[in-house]
Amino acid sequence: MKSLIIASNNSHKVREIRAILSPLGFTLSTPKELGIEFGPEETGKTFAENSLLKSRELFYLSKLPALADDSGICVDALGGAPGVYSARFGGEGLDDEGRARLLLEKMKGESDRNAKYVCVMSLVTPDGEYTFEGECKGLISDHYETSGNGFGYDPIFYYPPFSAHFSQVTDEKKNSVSHRKFALDQLVEFLKKHS
Ligand code: IMP
Repeated sequence: MKSLIIASNNSHKVREIRAILSPLGFTLSTPKELGIEFGPEETGKTFAENSLLKSRELFYLSKLPALADDSGICVDALGGAPGVYSARFGGEGLDDEGRARLLLEKMKGESDRNAKYVCVMSLVTPDGEYTFEGECKGLISDHYETSGNGFGYDPIFYYPPFSAHFSQVTDEKKNSVSHRKFALDQLVEFLKKHS
């Protein structure tokens, strides 16, 4: 099983995941590259439900072993919000920066800054359905960090072991500790055993 399709056209994510899987000999296609129209509604209440919703649909459409991830940021002081709603936080009118700034606003004056990124990778093959979960713990910053790059909530996600925001470190450095990396590690172990 060396050829996989991934249920995402998000170039940042695909790049991160390719960087981890390519050295292991796995090729990863996207729906766009294979001309597959894909975009199921993420109606699940958990990361695992949303992840499986995508990998199942893509397996059905492509007949290839299909990988999906669902991820987001969970903030302790907000009872785990935005969680599965991370991508839609604040409604349709906001972009990545708008969502991050809204989260900062909601955390104004809050002393508990603990947060975690969560990622559930799922794989659907002719043999079955599998899920793998990873977490990365950090803190919600007191400001929006404009130096560096990174996507989503990275400019407000402060990672104490690096003494930096995630947006300030290289992809390579972030990939070594990210929620997606830990979920992928488990997926890779699984693929090694079953491919
Ligand atoms: P998904 O594409 O449905 O998994 O949505 C994930 C949401 O969480 C998006 O809003 C992303 O911006 C955010 N997110 C997930 N992982 C990361 C990350 O590593 N850095 C920054 N934001 C992330």
